[in-house]
Amino acid sequence: MKISQSLFLAYLDCPNHCKELISQREGNNTKPNKTRVILNDERLFYNLTRDFILSQFDGSYIEWDLSAENDTVRVSSNCIIKTSESISILIDYRPITHIKKDWIAKLFFQMKMWEHYFNKKINSVYAITIEKEFESGKKFGILRFQSLNKKIEKESPFLESKYNDFLNFIQNPKYSDPKNDDETCQSPKSCHHRNVCFPIALDTEVFSLRDSQHFAMSLYRRGLGKWENIPMRELSSKQEIQILAHRENRLKLNLPKLLEYSNIWTNESKETISFLDFETVNPCFPMFERTKPFDHIPILFSLHIYDGNALTHHLSQLHWLDKDPRLDVLTELKSLLPKNGPIFAFQSLFEEGVLKSSSEAYPDFWEDWLLWKERMLDMATPFRQMWVYHPRQNGSFSLKEILPALVPEKSYNGLEIKNGAIANRMFLQACESNDPHSKEKTAKDIQEYCSLDTLSLFLIYKFINAQILSQNSL
Ligand code: SF4
Repeated sequence: MKISQSLFLAYLDCPNHCKELISQREGNNTKPNKTRVILNDERLFYNLTRDFILSQFDGSYIEWDLSAENDTVRVSSNCIIKTSESISILIDYRPITHIKKDWIAKLFFQMKMWEHYFNKKINSVYAITIEKEFESGKKFGILRFQSLNKKIEKESPFLESKYNDFLNFIQNPKYSDPKNDDETCQSPKSCHHRNVCFPIALDTEVFSLRDSQHFAMSLYRRGLGKWENIPMRELSSKQEIQILAHRENRLKLNLPKLLEYSNIWTNESKETISFLDFETVNPCFPMFERTKPFDHIPILFSLHIYDGNALTHHLSQLHWLDKDPRLDVLTELKSLLPKNGPIFAFQSLFEEGVLKSSSEAYPDFWEDWLLWKERMLDMATPFRQMWVYHPRQNGSFSLKEILPALVPEKSYNGLEIKNGAIANRMFLQACESNDPHSKEKTAKDIQEYCSLDTLSLFLIYKFINAQILSQNSL
């Protein structure tokens, strides 16, 4: 039986998922292999890391991806082991800024395999990551080199027992029951194999209950998985609103709270309202002066403006990163944004962060940013606070779910790009492409996606506005 790092990590995540992967590998695989495209940005990191390691250490190296089949180790370029007669050092690298738990598990697995196949101990483990505070223009310092010995030592008792369980499981891969202690096993939404641990015949509505992971699991186990069975006395006030909306199958709207947040919902003073959304990229290597690793650089914005009668739409030019786009974006935005009135965004901290960091880089806009900041409103707040909740949201508070819940004739279905992370990756790929058609297609897809985000904000605003007006007229 072949064992590999990916199977071990899958086993830690969910034994049943691991079993599924094993059966795919044994020949029943119907799913295509997903290959991740490595962008130039990441390639630069890998090349720089190699050069760094080779310049810092003498001795021999093995490029090492430890997986084994029939006692044969397969070696490929994944991480590096430096060896000498008496010492083995494991060095791994990723273009990220923080050491995550799954990385420690991966390194632990590699240490076990090295011990097993070479009968030698790994003496030290190092990670090379990106230094978050590195600023563009500096020649050195983007790579962060750190020892992981303490972290590995701390996690070892847990990983050692899981590793032994894993070896037994590989010999006899049985389906197991849901675990009680694991984040991934708290909901069918995050479960890899829900028909094993959450059979469809059972009621799972409770897993859409707001802020309730462990609580939902305990209700489900008690057979209280349906909206109508969930006991009201155990709920928080936000959860109560949600349950009532589902039981009564109608919208819940908290007018006093909405008006306390802003009187723009009724807009009696006829202010002009702006709806703003940015698309950004956040490359690991700073591309422009005054940027740090993973800073968000705006490449496009969509702006809908509603003056109480007419709706106008502006879409900025899509910037292909041949130069720093922030100055052009700020200049264009300043010329288009009305001088007064609120500016709505969804999860507005993101838009605020982009505006703030861009204005820091181009201080001529700092005063503008301070004024814009005062006008920003977050369209996500009424939903997060449950001042507005429709049962069609089904417990989701994302713009993609809220839009069709409130405005059923509109949705993100049919768009090629359905979230910002995909837009980011597709854009960076298109930047590297020499095919003008594919570039044009990506540009069109990103523009459509960004435009729908701000149109959604407007439609949601109009929906809430109409609800309040109709309530007030009763
Ligand atoms: S609940 Fe889901 S994730 Fe957890 S063990 Fe069962 S199948 Fe795996």
